[in-house]
Amino acid sequence: MAEANTATGNPPRPVNRSSGRPDNLRLLLNNKLATAGLAIFALIVLTALAAPLLPLPDPDVTAPADRLFRPLSEGHLLGTDALGRDILSRLIWGTRVSLAVGISATLIAAFFGSLIGLVAGYAGGRVDTFLMRGIDMVMAFPYILLALAIVAVLGPGLLNALYAIAVVNIPFFARNIRGIALGLSRREFVDAARLSGESNAQILFIEVLPNVLPVIIITMSTTVGWMILETAGLSFLGLGAQPPQADLGSMLGDGRKILFTAPHVSIIPGLMIFALVMSINLLGDGVRDVLDPRLKSGALTRPLARTAVIRDIAPGDIEPSPGAVLDVRGLKTEFRFGGEVFKAVGGVDMRVGRGECLGIVGESGSGKTVAAMSIMGLVPTPPGRIAGGVALLEGEDLFAVSDERIRQLRGSAVSHVFQDPLSTLHPLFTVGDQLIEAIQSHRSMPKSRATERAVELLNLVRIPNPAERLKSYPHELSGGMRQRVCIAMALADDARIIIADEPTTALDVTVQAQVLALLDKLRRERDVGILFITHDFGVVSAICDRVAVMYAGQFVETGATGEILKSPAHPYTAKLIDCVPVLGQPERRLDAIEGRPPVVNNLPIGCAFAERCPRAQDDCRAAPIPLTEFGQGRAVRCIHPILMEAGHG
Ligand code: SF4
Repeated sequence: MAEANTATGNPPRPVNRSSGRPDNLRLLLNNKLATAGLAIFALIVLTALAAPLLPLPDPDVTAPADRLFRPLSEGHLLGTDALGRDILSRLIWGTRVSLAVGISATLIAAFFGSLIGLVAGYAGGRVDTFLMRGIDMVMAFPYILLALAIVAVLGPGLLNALYAIAVVNIPFFARNIRGIALGLSRREFVDAARLSGESNAQILFIEVLPNVLPVIIITMSTTVGWMILETAGLSFLGLGAQPPQADLGSMLGDGRKILFTAPHVSIIPGLMIFALVMSINLLGDGVRDVLDPRLKSGALTRPLARTAVIRDIAPGDIEPSPGAVLDVRGLKTEFRFGGEVFKAVGGVDMRVGRGECLGIVGESGSGKTVAAMSIMGLVPTPPGRIAGGVALLEGEDLFAVSDERIRQLRGSAVSHVFQDPLSTLHPLFTVGDQLIEAIQSHRSMPKSRATERAVELLNLVRIPNPAERLKSYPHELSGGMRQRVCIAMALADDARIIIADEPTTALDVTVQAQVLALLDKLRRERDVGILFITHDFGVVSAICDRVAVMYAGQFVETGATGEILKSPAHPYTAKLIDCVPVLGQPERRLDAIEGRPPVVNNLPIGCAFAERCPRAQDDCRAAPIPLTEFGQGRAVRCIHPILMEAGHG
């Protein structure tokens, strides 16, 4: 391994005690449409709230002599209506009324609808049936007809319009919330609350409600604009606000009769309804994105199909190392959240030859998976990006090839085996369908030939009765069998490199040993290189020829597996090895590694492991520590390494 990593040479910055994720407001402001919606909505609301303070004429006072003034007339900025009333004044006061009614109707519908949904979803059984059939009956009527019927019974008026709009929207909230409460009420944390003796009401309001609350807020934010429209619709029909009171719908209704002679009377409130509803919808979409935990990372836009590559220095002609199928040099991958840059991979070198297995070992969050995913551009952008380095696949720079070329190489020359086969395989297709699709996606061949090939592959990974197994769904197979199917898919197109990301972590020990033996046999027989990601030195010893120990985005020790297991040079490597139990040595102490790795947006100037290292000295913290070669094919990033001390292995 050559010298790598210069990413830690930055001056230290103040420690960010937060999680480093942008807060909700910053996330919202990252979304330009939502920000525009927020600005327009805030302007409308502030103007409406300030109506009593503004120097406006009385909105209800008629002046027949001033009727139908055009906009920009003297004393009437937006003109007057058919009764000589000032349109600007009526618009601002009317917006105030429409907002109040729309928001109140939303709150009422959200309260009752959510309550019904929560109770129905949590209680289930007859309570659920009873409440939901009631909701179904309300939903069976077209909602605007139902609203008209309610106003017809209660009589025209703004308050009655508000009740009608609220009632017809209750089913919308009830249905949404019931579905979520139903799923939550069967979750383990609810069982735990029951076991701890909490009452049903406590479980419902203390355990379930907080989990449903974001959905209620999201639903409210996306429906309030709709309710303002519905209220305006009832007022337009003369069933909401009654003369002389103005709201946006009644203003629109007043202008309808003189649409052609004085179009400004109806166009101005129409534009206000448009601006109000549009701004609320844009803002509501932004709020939904912010409150959705899956989008908390700041990825408010759909990730690109391939990781963005933004290299400061374009690599020149780089000769791949002799015998290397995959040759990665100085790989840097970072994530950007708002103004923060997280250097997940800070410049690593990897080389994998044909039939060779390189293990990357490290704790969770050390950057090993990001490094492996970067090679084929599988790190999502945003927020990830490759900030430097090259990845050569048989001399071809993977960061420079076209999207089409990378798509061809994915799953053919370079394939992946992931940790959890149950989430990798599609639950609704048989393993045969999925294997055949994997075979046909890179090679054109008739289905009968692809089926034969699928049987061969299942045979290869030692699945008994392969022709029958092709008809099985993933859930019908054991964990070990599913992982074998994933390995078969990885071999579907004669891969030259398999990136195996913790492929045995989800399996029990016996099956783990079988899968490792299978991968080991296949790589030797088929001459496939394996990049094996794991946190477990026990697994490394079973399959890897060489190992690279990763910490805080850097390799801290590299070398042949046997050598490193026998005499680890880096204190971190030694501690990782000490975490592995050894059969027949019950007296051996299993040491946990105290402390936590540094956050990669605030790496120290010196050794990243210094805070946890028992051998740390002052000079360890003074300057970046280079990866220094020693012995045969070994390198260590430590200035006080453990050399040839007994007791490991
Ligand atoms: S450089 Fe110092 S702090 Fe870092 S691993 Fe070596 S001895 Fe420990």
